[in-house]
This record gives sequence, C-alpha cells and structure tokens, in this order.
Amino acid sequence: MDQPELDDITAPAGGTLAAAGGGTLSHCPYCAFQCGMTISGPAGAPSIAGDPAFPVNLGVLCVKGYTAGKTIGHPERLTSPLVRNARGALEPCAWDEALGLVSSRLREVQRRHGKSAVGVFGSGALTNEKAYLLGKFARVALGTANIDYNGRFCMSSAAAASLRAFGLDRGLPFPLEDIARTDVILLAGANPAETFPPMMRVIDAHRARGGRLILIDPRRSPTADAATLHLRLTPGTDAALANGILHVLVRDGLIDRDYVASRTEGFAEVRALVATYWPERVERITGVTEAQLVEAARLVGRAGTAMVLTGRGPEQQAQGVKNVLAYVDIALALGLPGRPFSGYGCLTGQGNGQGGREHGQKADQLPGYRRIDDPAARRHIAEVWGVPEAELPGPGRSAYELLATMGDPEGVKALLVMGSNILVSAPDALRIERQLRRLDFLAVADFFLSETASQADVVLPSAQWAEEEGTTTNLEGRVIRRRRAFPPPPGVRTDLEILCALAERLGAGSAFAFSGAREVFGELRRASAGGPADYAGISYEKIDAAQGVFWPCPTVEHPGTPRLFLERFATPSGRARFHPVKHSPPAEVPDPEYPLYLTTGRVLAHYQSGTQTRRVSELTRLAPEATAHMNPATARRNGLAEGDALVLATRRGRAWFTARLDPGLRADTVFVPFHWGGEHAVNRLTNPSLDPVSRMPEFKVCAVRVERADGNGATS
Ligand code: SF4
Repeated sequence: MDQPELDDITAPAGGTLAAAGGGTLSHCPYCAFQCGMTISGPAGAPSIAGDPAFPVNLGVLCVKGYTAGKTIGHPERLTSPLVRNARGALEPCAWDEALGLVSSRLREVQRRHGKSAVGVFGSGALTNEKAYLLGKFARVALGTANIDYNGRFCMSSAAAASLRAFGLDRGLPFPLEDIARTDVILLAGANPAETFPPMMRVIDAHRARGGRLILIDPRRSPTADAATLHLRLTPGTDAALANGILHVLVRDGLIDRDYVASRTEGFAEVRALVATYWPERVERITGVTEAQLVEAARLVGRAGTAMVLTGRGPEQQAQGVKNVLAYVDIALALGLPGRPFSGYGCLTGQGNGQGGREHGQKADQLPGYRRIDDPAARRHIAEVWGVPEAELPGPGRSAYELLATMGDPEGVKALLVMGSNILVSAPDALRIERQLRRLDFLAVADFFLSETASQADVVLPSAQWAEEEGTTTNLEGRVIRRRRAFPPPPGVRTDLEILCALAERLGAGSAFAFSGAREVFGELRRASAGGPADYAGISYEKIDAAQGVFWPCPTVEHPGTPRLFLERFATPSGRARFHPVKHSPPAEVPDPEYPLYLTTGRVLAHYQSGTQTRRVSELTRLAPEATAHMNPATARRNGLAEGDALVLATRRGRAWFTARLDPGLRADTVFVPFHWGGEHAVNRLTNPSLDPVSRMPEFKVCAVRVERADGNGATS
C-alpha cells in the first residue's frame, strides 16, 4: 500500500460565498459532519443540494440533509412567544411581555433562593457564537454557576479521555480525508452508514486502496457490511476487549517500542495489566472469540498505518472515559497518534458538538476550552467580559445532576433551555419529567413546540439554521460558516437577539451590546486567545477563503492546524500518557427479573430527539414509529413476531414499541433508537448511572425485560 506524504493532501482552498448555480452556501443543521450545502428557492419551500466543493462531503448529503429545508416553512413552526395562562394553556403573547416575564421570574427566583437557583441548559446544536454567549449570559447576566448542555450526553467521555491521554481534546486530530489513507481502521461503537452516511465515501475510498475495517458493535449494523471483521461484543465490555487486543499485541511483539519510549509515558503499568487479559478470559467476558480477538490484533498490529476511532458505543457508559482510554492505549502502543494517516479519533455526533464544548456552556469550562477553576483562565475571561474575577461563578452541576435535582432544596428552581429537548434526550426521563414539574419557572427557546417546550411557562420562538449567521466546528476541528439564506419569519428572533434582550432586562445590557453573530465571534476570538482551543486568528473572511480553518489558529497569519501532535503532545511533558484500565461490569447487568441488555442508538432517518426530523414527512415515512430491535430467537422466546406491539421494562420505567426482528443482533440484547418521546421514549428506561470523570450517563447498557402489549399498552 502506498504511503503518501502529508503534503499530498494539504487543506483544500477555494471557498466561495455563493454556489455556482446561485443560492447560499451553508452547512447542514444536523450532525457533526456539517456537510456543505446550497440553499436556494423561497423561504417557504427551499431546495437543498450538496456543495461539491466542501471537502468533507464533496456534494454528498444524507436524506436528513436533503430534507433539512422542510423545517423552515413548516406549519408547526412557532412564530409568536407563548405564555401559560391561568387555565394552564399556552397562548400567544407579545415579545415584550414574554421577555419581561422571563427576566422578572428569573430574578424573583434568584432573590428568594440565590443566583445559582437559576439553571441554563444549552445544546451541541448551537453555533459557536450562541454557545459562547449563552455561557457569558449565565455567568455575567445571571451570575449562576449552573449551566450545562446536552453535549454532556454525547462526547464528554471521549473528550475527558483525550485530555488525559493527549492533553487536548479535538474529536479528530486529523482531517477526515486522512481516514481514507490509513491501512486499517479499528472502529468501536459507531455506525456511520446510518448516522453520517457521507463518511462511507471515505470508508469506500479506504477499501478501494485495500484498507481493512474492524468494527466493534453488539449488533450487525449497516456499517458492518463494509467491515473485514465484526466483533459483536457483549454490551459494556469494551475495556476488556481493548485490553485483550493489547495483550495479543504485546505477546506477538507488535508494539512500536521506539515510539513508546520516545513519545509516551506509563506503558509499563499498562503492559503489566493487560498481561492478565489473556484471550480465553476476554472471550468469557466479551463473547468475542479468541480467534477473532487475535485476528483483530494482528490486522491492526501489522498495518503500516492505522486508526483507532470511537463513537458513542464505548463512550456512553458509566465507565466511558476508561473505555476510551483502553482504546487509546492500543493506539499508543502501536505508535499511531501524531503519525501520518494514523492516530486516535472520536467521531463527534452533534452538529456543533465540538465547538459547543469549547466556548463555555459546560459547567466546568470557560471559552477557549479553559477550566473555570484555573485562576489564570478566570482572570483572562473576566478581563474580556469586563467583570471582576471574583464575580465569576465557579463550576456548576453537570447536565444530568442539574436536571435530576430540579426543584429539590439543593437544586435549581428555574431553568432556561435553549435548543434542547431534555424530556426525550436525558436518561431516566420519567424522573426528569417529575423534577421538571417541581420547577417554579421554565422558559424554553426553540422553533417547534418540542416535548420540553410544551411544558414551559414561556416559549420563545427562535430562528433556524438557514435564517441566521454563525460558525460551527465540525468533527475534524474545522471552523466553518453557516450563512443566512432567508430572514426569520415575522415574530421570530434569533437566539443571540433573545439573549441580548434578556441581558438588557436583567441589567447587564452593556456587556451584551452585539449587533450580530460577527461581533460575538470577534469577542469569542479574544476570549479564546491563548487557550487550548485558540480561535484568535480565525475570521469569517479566512473561513470563506479556505473552506474552514482548523483550530488552534492563534494569529491572523497562522494557517490553522489540520493535524495535531506531529511533534509533541499537549501534556506538560510533551508525551502522551498510557492509562491502565481494569474491566468492571456495567452498573446494571441482566438478572432473572430483567434478563436482557438494552442498548440505544440512532437510525438513518432521524436525528437526536427528533424535534425536527419527526416533522419531515419524507423521514417519518422511512422511520414512522419507535421500534425495538431484537434477534428472532429472542422475539420467539417472548412470543413476539415482526410488527408486534411490546413493552420494555427496566427498574426505572416502561415504554412502548413495535418489534423489529434483526438476526444481526446478539440474542441477549435489545436495541432501541432514541428519537421518540412520551411513552415511546427509550430514555424512560435508560440508566442514569454516571461516569465519575465525564459525568456521562450509561445510555448504552442496562438490564431490560420484554413484555407483550395489547393495543392499549397493557401488558399480558
Ligand atoms: Fe451530512 Fe450529517 Fe447532515 Fe447527513 S445529517 S447531510 S451526514 S451533516
């Protein structure tokens, strides 16, 4: 296989502001691929086409991207603020009244219970500008410590692991195209064929060069069709599997000793630990046969170049950080990170999952990926914001902890939600529903009346992606521009306008006197300067000229950094760190009462909580209902056939689904997509047990029972 030099694929140039055939160049509102697209036609019925010049998707979109315009002129679109009246119903009202009510109720709660009694909940879908301003709004306008976001439920384990191993977290520390140039991909717990189909273009190019894909997933997903080897592990056993692979690599002399000696630290402890993960033991724990384990180790260990990539499978567990560290250990032992066409990467899920975790909407962070408990970081940000450092709050509660204590004596009493549907996306959703009812006040900014918005005291209708300017940062760390194709409909405001107007009413208007996204981005650049995620040298013009700019980019002359760690890692010693990781079982394992594993994920047609995609008829035709997927043998044992109604029950609740038979799924596992709400929300069932470091809930594994259901949902 040829070994091209890095210079062969330098970052592409030639971005344009307008598509060749007219229309506005922008990016998809959904996943972290942020595919380039052209928006044209009238606002009521825009047409979407892929942008062939954008290097990530080269004109290819998935069905979600092609139909993204359907939400713009959708009849269910909110076009007026809503306020709950004395009869308990939501009714339209004027913006002045709605904003006045939100600001006065938030202040009232703060007067009675303290500043941090108001919580703010953001989203990995917000642009960098919105995420930045939301963090500033919480800390400066409200003075609360309690801000977090749904990205905590997405990439936080991989982010924490990368910080520990490499000293820096950027989902992919190399451009996506490098994946096509590697010899072997070890892909753990991701299903790009459905979650971001344009990635299969890269996988196909990889295969065309003779590359091999090893997929680790409890079910045979559509991505498995492209795999040389599929390891169908028992849910919750990633660390044991990774240790087993490393055991074989050590045993067979496949470790890169020079790299380990010169670029890493801590290998001796890991080598001693993995010596106890002999293949027979790993087979007993994981269900992956010894022969498959050895084949996987030899495939990746003998490759000239290789990549270890993780998705939500190993990450969304109560030991998600340890799982990722165990996979990173493989990459380090083979000398991959910082080498051409090799390395470790996390396949970020949410549209701006990367940028959303860099600019201050996380409970423990300030802009530029700074820690909120770092005195130097606090001084810098306080200066940019023009406030005394002592007034900046400290760390607040993580997402689930914030939501699970709403209304409790120690919890928040009022909540402002921006772009998140927590009643569908948070684990143990019935508890979240109960806690939500205990709030004194709930305000939600969204463009549809989501499950969460429908419970609010005030709903603020916000603009959609094609109606506002802003930047996002895709899974490669490439900062790109979303451009406004249409003005928002009458009665609708952008999230930035909403935050600035609320800040004005809260008495902090002078710190929020922004004319638009470009000005917010200017302040974000100054705030991020010198931080790990340094955007100081990135401007809208520079993004336009080069199809995006990879951070860090500390000066206007700097070209950006497509590839990280080529010379050194971002740790104090410059070396990457190994971490010994012992396998321990998931927080909940099957027992006689709940005899199966439950795992969750996504399907091609829907995105996250489904607030948008469940309103697009082309997508609901493809995936009209909430389904529970199980092996035909499992279905037979439970008296079920394809299409039957069923109930899933866990220690936290019950939910109703339609049976889908899937011979590729392990017989001890039920897989359920998480895009539906109400009684079809799989998150009524999921385990909120948290990773001790990342505070990631255990979405990917818990114990479940299957029951038949009659037409009314009663179990037999
Ligand atoms: Fe691309 Fe993701 Fe949008 Fe599909 S959903 S078009 S993969 S950005």
